[in-house]
Parts: sequence; C-alpha cells; structure tokens
Amino acid sequence: MRRVLSILVLIVTVSCVADCGAPDAQRPQPRTGPGQDTAENRPEMPVEPKAPQTVKEGDVWIPPMPSMESIAPSPGWVTSGPDVPPMPITLLRLPRTNISRAKFPAIDFHVHARGLQTSEAYESLIRLMDSIGMGAIVNLNGGTGEDLDAALRAGEPYRDRVANFITFSAEGINEPGWSERFAAEMERAFKAGARGMKVAKTLGQGAKNPDGTFIQADDPRLDPIWAMAAKYDRPVMIHTSDSIGRFYPIGPKNERYEAGLWRRPGDTEGNLYRTGPPHEVIEKARENMHRKHPKTRFVNAHMAMLYYDPQKLAHLLDTYPNADVEISATVQDLGRAPRMWRDFILEYQDRILFGTDGNPNRNADDFWTPHWRYLETYDEYFYHPAQVRTEGGSPGHGRWNISGVGLPDSVLRKVYYENALRHLPSLRPSIEKQLAARGSR
Ligand SMILES: [Zn+2]
Repeated sequence: MRRVLSILVLIVTVSCVADCGAPDAQRPQPRTGPGQDTAENRPEMPVEPKAPQTVKEGDVWIPPMPSMESIAPSPGWVTSGPDVPPMPITLLRLPRTNISRAKFPAIDFHVHARGLQTSEAYESLIRLMDSIGMGAIVNLNGGTGEDLDAALRAGEPYRDRVANFITFSAEGINEPGWSERFAAEMERAFKAGARGMKVAKTLGQGAKNPDGTFIQADDPRLDPIWAMAAKYDRPVMIHTSDSIGRFYPIGPKNERYEAGLWRRPGDTEGNLYRTGPPHEVIEKARENMHRKHPKTRFVNAHMAMLYYDPQKLAHLLDTYPNADVEISATVQDLGRAPRMWRDFILEYQDRILFGTDGNPNRNADDFWTPHWRYLETYDEYFYHPAQVRTEGGSPGHGRWNISGVGLPDSVLRKVYYENALRHLPSLRPSIEKQLAARGSR
C-alpha cells in the first residue's frame, strides 16, 4: 500500500509541473454574463444540517430526515426528460480483489425465478448458481394453485438447491371468508412442499379497502395468515414499505429522480408522495404485525426498507425477536456507509440474511459479483449491483459507487447460509455437502 501511495504522490507532483506553472495568459479567462457562474445566480449548495446548541463541539449527532419541502422542486419545475447521463467511468486506480464466486455456498433468500416449471428451467438456473458459487436459492415466485403445484413437481429433484415459496395474494381480501380460504391454500402449499411464503409490498401500499384506504400488515383479516405460517413454522418473507426516495416529491433533489426515475413528463409510477400512505404508517403497522404474532418468523426483505435509518432498523431487531432481515436491493445504499454498516452487521450478525432480488437472467459481472465484492472485500468505490437500469444505462437505484465491508469469515458464513438455515433447515445437508466439496467446512 505504501508503494501505491508514493506512486500517487509522484503523479500529483508531475501533473503539477505540467499544469500549475502555466502562465496566466494561457489559461482560459473566466466568462461573465447571463447564465454564467456568478454569486447571484449560483444555485444553493446542499450543506450538512447544523447541530442544535445542546450538542457539544466534537460530539456526534444524527440529523433529522430532510423535510418534504426541502426536496420539493421549485414551483413550475418540469422534468428535464428521460435521458439520464450514464455513470461516469471512474478514473481512480484502486486495488481490486479478483472475485467471481461466493467464498461459501450462499443461500440467496430473495430470487424471482418465474416460470420454474420444467427441468430445463431448473437445470439452467443451477448451472448459473454453480458458476457464481451459489449454494441454494429461495424462489419467491412459486405462485399459488396450479402454478405452484407445477413448480413444486418440476422442482422435486432440485429440492436441495431451490426452495419454492407460495406467493401471497390479496385478491378477494374484501370478500367474506377470504382469510380462511387463503390460509387453507397456504396449508395445502406447505403440505405439498412450499417452504415459506413471500408477501410483496401489496400490503401497505397496494391492496385497498372498499373505502379506498390501504390495507396494512396489521389488518385483522391477516391474523389467520400469519398464524398458519407459525403453525407450520414456515418463514414469511415480507416486503413492506419502499425506497425512501419514493415517499418524497419528484424533482432534481430527489436522488431517485436524479438516477432516472419519473423522467418522462407525467410519469409518477411508484412514487408515493401524496398518493400513498406515509412510510411511518407502513412501518408502524409492520411493528404491530410482529408484536401480535410472536410465533411467526418474519424475514423482512430489503433490510425492512430501513436502510436509510440504522437506528430504526436496530429498534425493529431489538424489539422483535421474530424479525430478521435480508439485504437484497440495499447493497447500493449500505455500500455508501461501509464502516458504519460493517459495525451494524457485526452487531446483528445472527439476524441478517443474504439476498439479491435477482433472477436467472442477471449476469455475473454487473449483478452477482458486486454482491460478493461488497460482503467479502474491502475494495473501495466500485460499481454497485444495479437492481434496475434506465434506458441510458444509469443504475436506477443511484448514480454512485460503493465500498465493501470485508466481513470476517465467521460472520460471512452466518450471513451467507447459517442464518438462512434456521428458517430452511432442510437445506442443511446440501450446504454441508457443498462446504465439504470446497474443503471449507
Ligand atoms: Zn423482490
């Protein structure tokens, strides 16, 4: 490392010789006039909020969330159009770990493998898994009824690598007898081999009551649903709430807009400011659900969407022993604060599961490898796993780079497979066999 530094110093010195000594006459002269960068027309730079008087110099404090008004665009603002500049290519020459496979057979608790209904589909998925070092996956798109039966039937020979979940559906929730009917379908699914249930963000911001209000996760009609999962001791993989930027006004100060969302005039798809419930309402209902059903094991997708506020996430995990979380689609945010999140993962190492939100069409270089790089290495400022890409190639979850948390092996094993095995004990022989084959038991 010292050598790298001294080379950098040398480059800096050399470039100073070339640039810094140039006579003023050769420098471009500052331009003035309308539209130029003058003190009067310079847009306000964001600055860190000031600590209240009560915080002593040198002490650490946590600023509040920005207000809706501070993110809202100025009146009359219109979108600048669909084109988002591509991610700039970094010019920093930084050390990179050569990595393409997970160090241990990871269990990806969050995969969308739609149409897994033939042995060819399973075989091709398993070839992908072998190539990236994935031990097993949870397929959240098992569906219900005949679709689920077909997936389970075709998947029987691959049960050691793919765990199919029944997919929750709120269809008909406002009709009498829905709770009993859906609970019965869950029971049928569990008996037929479904190893858990996935609940999408339907609850909280999708399904509605007849009066137009949103159905939250603590709705009493869901009590028999959570109870059925507890009866069979199957995990409920639940996605509630959303990326925090979706709750804020659309405009250039919203980092998700900047990355490429809502760029077409009139497009507000998935933005919840004004149209959805506030995230606090969804978060509160989720807490009620955990509290009312202590025997149901919940795995909260995407760090419970609390990646924006580690204190809230710590509170959820501290208060509800039946709450676990998985990291899918948050690596781009966790990787922005790698030192803090490393401490957090070490502290909650028994509660955090690996997940990606991937599907069989994602490729290694821009999706799977960055996950390994993030968890296993201290590599800095690399491209994050792009969950979504805009037309121009910009990563829709954020135009920035991330740094790795370099987890120690003991914690990496927990995040990659041990914590998942608590929920899916039937995968243990498969994972142990794979560890033995790698010589890393
Ligand atoms: Zn997902």
